[in-house]
Amino acid sequence: MVVGGGPAGTAAAATARAEGLSVELLCARRGHRPAPGESLPPGTEGLLHEIFGASMLDDHQHQASFGNSGAWGGPDVEATEFVCNPFGHGWHIDRVALEASLHDRLRTLGVRVRSDVRVTGQAWSADGWRIALDDRDTTVIRAGAIVDATGRAARIARSQGARRRRLDRLVAAYWMLAAGDPQDGECTTLVQAAREGWWYTTPLPGGRRVVAFLTDADLMPARATRIARDWHERLEQAPHIEDRLASSGCALHSDPVILDAAVAHLDHPAGHGWVAAGDAAVSFDPLSSQGMLTSFVMGSGAGHAVAAMLTRGDQQPLIRWGAEYARLLEAHLRLQAAYYALECRWPTAPFWVRRRNRGASPDATSP
Ligand SMILES: Cc1cc2nc3c(=O)[nH]c(=O)nc-3n(C[C@H](O)[C@H](O)[C@H](O)COP(=O)(O)OP(=O)(O)OC[C@H]3O[C@@H](n4cnc5c(N)ncnc54)[C@H](O)[C@@H]3O)c2cc1C
Repeated sequence: MVVGGGPAGTAAAATARAEGLSVELLCARRGHRPAPGESLPPGTEGLLHEIFGASMLDDHQHQASFGNSGAWGGPDVEATEFVCNPFGHGWHIDRVALEASLHDRLRTLGVRVRSDVRVTGQAWSADGWRIALDDRDTTVIRAGAIVDATGRAARIARSQGARRRRLDRLVAAYWMLAAGDPQDGECTTLVQAAREGWWYTTPLPGGRRVVAFLTDADLMPARATRIARDWHERLEQAPHIEDRLASSGCALHSDPVILDAAVAHLDHPAGHGWVAAGDAAVSFDPLSSQGMLTSFVMGSGAGHAVAAMLTRGDQQPLIRWGAEYARLLEAHLRLQAAYYALECRWPTAPFWVRRRNRGASPDATSP
């Protein structure tokens, strides 16, 4: 049983099915809240082909990305082009369309996909899991094992006593802007550091564009006192982002959606009959732009681990699961620290001081 239909859940389901298991994927509708994650790095296309046995990215629905650019550590924009990358180009994706085609692909592979149900409870007994859904019939399903791929909610793991620990309080003010200039030919993600955090903007297929401002939760003005002018004043501190929005015909309007973007991890990402993968296990700083790729890789690993347990009684992959995620998190934190250290223009600004002195940031272990 897989709970969650994002990158981690779909990869877990495809892999467990390829290992010969009977697999069901349960997934709640995302509703009006956007699923952040618009850029896939070079190499993802091949990985998806490996996991799902088909080409999942095409340029009818998604848009090739030929590089990134950033004003970080100085006022000028520097570009990194993918032209020399051995894996080729990256992608700007239509996230809703990609998840729909992954669900369709899973159905073709023989996975039972239910994309409109929320898991509301689960209990372990001698003969496996009993899982309760929020559908009208209050269905109860039985399963031998569960992959928790519910994203930052970590719904299953937390119900089994795992605790989610936050290492910072990063949040994103996130706007999905409707078609500006349909001729917007920009195909790179642009990042710019500012005194109180950093901005990014990415073009999306269909003429849309995402723009987001990342800062710490306590540095974000309270909702009641936030007005449109505040955002425009903040945007003025990131002139390259402001110019990119203007040249693509987009303007900030309405209130952004505020999203959790903290680096966080479970104290144990696997237990008796369950394993967590993707953001449920460890969520990374969006600066890395690696969250989805890692979720596909680890989701697939979770599918293998569950298959080893159910078909061969081999518990070793689940026992090693925590150490594997600890290594990934450590590597991420090293890279993150090195990247933030490149920006020294605001030595007294709290956002940057905290990132220089890890540990000085307000701890925020979640309930
Ligand atoms: C601002 C921001 C920008 C980002 N940009 C990028 C980017 O450009 N590139 C990138 O690679 N990554 C990016 N990320 C990270 C990326 O969004 C995540 O790493 C990725 O979505 C994690 O995938 P997942 O499958 O683990 O979880 P999710 O994609 O969060 O999926 C969780 C799934 O679980 C389901 N679910 C939850 N609770 C239940 C329940 N009770 N019952 C049933 N289903 C349930 C949800 O409906 C959903 O289908 C960004 C993150 C943020 C915050």
